Amino acid sequence: MTRNIQKNLNDDNRPVFTISVAADMINVSVHTLRMYENSGLILPRRTKSKRRMYSRNDIERLRFIRMMIEERGLNIASIKILLSLIPCWDIINCSLEDRENCDAYTNMYEPCWIVSNRGEVCRDKDCRHCSIYSNLSPFADMKIFLKNQTFEHCNKIKEDIKNEK
Ligand code: SF4
Repeated sequence: MTRNIQKNLNDDNRPVFTISVAADMINVSVHTLRMYENSGLILPRRTKSKRRMYSRNDIERLRFIRMMIEERGLNIASIKILLSLIPCWDIINCSLEDRENCDAYTNMYEPCWIVSNRGEVCRDKDCRHCSIYSNLSPFADMKIFLKNQTFEHCNKIKEDIKNEK
């Protein structure tokens, strides 16, 4: 029993904070948290009576969003565009067919967890349990992330540049 209580206390995904407590913790208004949710930046859980509940990981995510706004000067629309660049299809290795049938591959403005038509691979997944949704820190500096990728489609541009010389 004690072990279960301890496990619950240690579980960072457990939704334990109401919206007003979460708002206090990151020093924003409840309205702001609703706005983040409506724009798809965060997916809080709901109780049976539809109250929003936030976990410790959600609080960290909200801190990340605040950092992007306050320190990097981004707004909600630009954070969404930035997050839409995360190449989830490559990270989870979707087939070409899956990619062609998934809005996350083609949509330029919305992160994969909020596109309306997710491909077969992700259609029934709860994105809150996916590292691509839940672990944003590697994408905080997209340039560092991109430096670790290979871009075969750039080869044609490289060739063109070589031929221009
Ligand atoms: S499970 Fe959700 S967050 Fe993860 S790649 Fe699929 S759509 Fe994106």
